Amino acid sequence: MSQTIKADYLIIGAGASGVAFADTVLSESDATMIIVDKEDKPGGHWNHAYSFVTLHQPSSFYGVSSKELSRGVKDEVGLNKGLNELASGAEVLAYFDELMRETFLPSGKVRYFPKCEYLGDGVIRSILTGQTFNVEANKIVDSTYYKTSIPATHTPVFSIDDSVNFMPPNNLPKLQTKIDGVTIIGGGKTGIDTCLWLLERGVPADNIRWIMPRDAWLIDRRNTQPTKEFFADTIGAQAGQMEAIANSTSMEDMFLRLEQAGVFLRLDRNVLPKMFHGATVSKMELEELGKIKKVVRLGRVSAVEASRIVLVEGEIPLPDNEIVVDCTASAITNLEISPVFSENTITLQTVRSYQPVFSASFIAHIDLNYDDIKKKNDLCRVVPLPNHDYDWVELTYRNMMNQFFWSKEPGLKKWLQNNRLDGFMAMVAGVKFYEFENLKILNRMRKAAKPAIAKLKEYKAQIDKGH
Ligand SMILES: Cc1cc2nc3c(=O)[nH]c(=O)nc-3n(C[C@H](O)[C@H](O)[C@H](O)COP(=O)(O)OP(=O)(O)OC[C@H]3O[C@@H](n4cnc5c(N)ncnc54)[C@H](O)[C@@H]3O)c2cc1C
Repeated sequence: MSQTIKADYLIIGAGASGVAFADTVLSESDATMIIVDKEDKPGGHWNHAYSFVTLHQPSSFYGVSSKELSRGVKDEVGLNKGLNELASGAEVLAYFDELMRETFLPSGKVRYFPKCEYLGDGVIRSILTGQTFNVEANKIVDSTYYKTSIPATHTPVFSIDDSVNFMPPNNLPKLQTKIDGVTIIGGGKTGIDTCLWLLERGVPADNIRWIMPRDAWLIDRRNTQPTKEFFADTIGAQAGQMEAIANSTSMEDMFLRLEQAGVFLRLDRNVLPKMFHGATVSKMELEELGKIKKVVRLGRVSAVEASRIVLVEGEIPLPDNEIVVDCTASAITNLEISPVFSENTITLQTVRSYQPVFSASFIAHIDLNYDDIKKKNDLCRVVPLPNHDYDWVELTYRNMMNQFFWSKEPGLKKWLQNNRLDGFMAMVAGVKFYEFENLKILNRMRKAAKPAIAKLKEYKAQIDKGH
């Protein structure tokens, strides 16, 4: 017979989002929690990451609010040189493991069920023993809604002939043979990471072929630095962004102005990107990637056959010794929006653009401090995850509106400034009356905000009409 266990919250998933939610509940209340995950260790998809993966945002605003992830250093070598450190996958996993062992479990308020699956209706089952538990919880927190997909665990949507040396990026560092030629499939962040790893390991650019179904607008990582010395870059880019939107005459013109303002980068200035996934690169990384000249722009792959790769708009030959690397897992597979709060379920989604962990922490704070479900959903309007270039319009509009609504809410501004995962509010609040250059940037931002919102609304209407 199943054992019955009780808690205030049942959190499904011990990935970054579930854990960031739990951390805020632990810091701000006496509530008890049960965390269940199919994985053996906290950290979710990071358990299966390729060895050369890193965060693509500075460590200082990733993880959970109560525990620092950054070591407070800037990279002195490599392609991120001069910018704040990016934790490796191994560091991210160690961080979550420590948090569980040293903070969550000793608190006596968290019970953790690794290697257990949530079956629905309050039932969890141990994968290893089959034992089931009935959980009686006031609220269920679903951190699995986005259905993250990563190279090591996803199934490609195209066929692959058995004879092809086809692998996820995870296998590359394990190779003990010379790479004569390698084809990377996928133009997203994983494709970028893989190309950079190959180049850093000395594989000649001429031996790398990069299949790029869609080019992406990329974010200059220099503009995501949450430390004061980067104020002009980070907050300056925000001001530049608002001015670019406000002064634009069309959506295409807006993207070009955003590029001119240094907000966006792209791999090839002759190709207008059609994708936006919020990936960041440094200028040095972009320069390296530019060395790869064999870029195949023939749409998506439909089949990897023994001697050719078939794409939607053509085909390319596949030499005998070529390695083919699958970088086509799209991190997020569910882009539908659901209300964050419903009767007794909290569905974790982003309420600030590209920030799942900040969002989870914010949602926990709202749940603890507000009763009315409508008010909670009003404060936690979902900022949708982007896919196409034009999705950036909706994302930016909702992001700005959320920021506006939050600024009107008593106490919330202070909470945001004190939350490590926020990154930027404290930076803005810390500007002194004599820091004229920084004040000028803030004024530019304020001046352009309203016209930018109006322009975004106009573009939203055009997108809704299908233009
Ligand atoms: C390579 C890579 C780099 C990234 N870098 C950044 C970055 O720099 N900054 C940033 O903000 N974001 C980044 N992201 C986005 C990333 O998605 C989030 O950072 C975060 O790790 C996602 O965590 P999650 O908890 O939402 O999802 P997941 O990591 O997918 O966790 C969900 C968990 O739920 C568990 N689960 C699912 N179903 C069940 C069930 N029925 N029963 C029990 N358990 C279940 C799974 O086992 C999993 O452990 C990156 C993503 C990738 C792929």
